[in-house]
Amino acid sequence: MTSMSEELDIHALRMRTALRQAVRAADAGEVPVGAAIFKDGHLLAQAHNQTETLKDPTAHAEMIAITQAAAAVGDWRLDGTVLYVTKEPCVMCAGAIVLARIPLVVWGVSDPLRGGAASRFQILQSETLNHRTDYLTGVLEAECAALLKDFFKARREASDPGPAPASGAADV
Ligand SMILES: [Zn+2]
Repeated sequence: MTSMSEELDIHALRMRTALRQAVRAADAGEVPVGAAIFKDGHLLAQAHNQTETLKDPTAHAEMIAITQAAAAVGDWRLDGTVLYVTKEPCVMCAGAIVLARIPLVVWGVSDPLRGGAASRFQILQSETLNHRTDYLTGVLEAECAALLKDFFKARREASDPGPAPASGAADV
């Protein structure tokens, strides 16, 4: 019997694997999101967002990890697994998580704007779908959020053309 805090330590430890993947995404110029899937304490799959690299809108960390995990177990049903992801899944990934029958998803930072799992859309707990996935949020939240914040800050600074010329000066 594990205590609540031991359980949280285990989740944090596994989230580290997802975080390392998110760092790899950032290094590749991708939005830094990483995912990992565990079953019975063993790492089945780990992946990071590769949307830009693969020029594929479906190449989110969770999607790639789900494909890897299904190949590893030889079944599309991912019973008994836990998916860790640094950011709340989008609607596509939340849909795939439900289809894969993953029983539990743990994420770091929630996405109040576009979160498809619980924040904006509640795909994981939809009564209309034939499977419901439990979730746990806020695991290593500060680190997962900092990675995203730094990435978007750097991207804004890179695309900032600098101060605009004084009004009228360019019209001469
Ligand atoms: Zn997604």
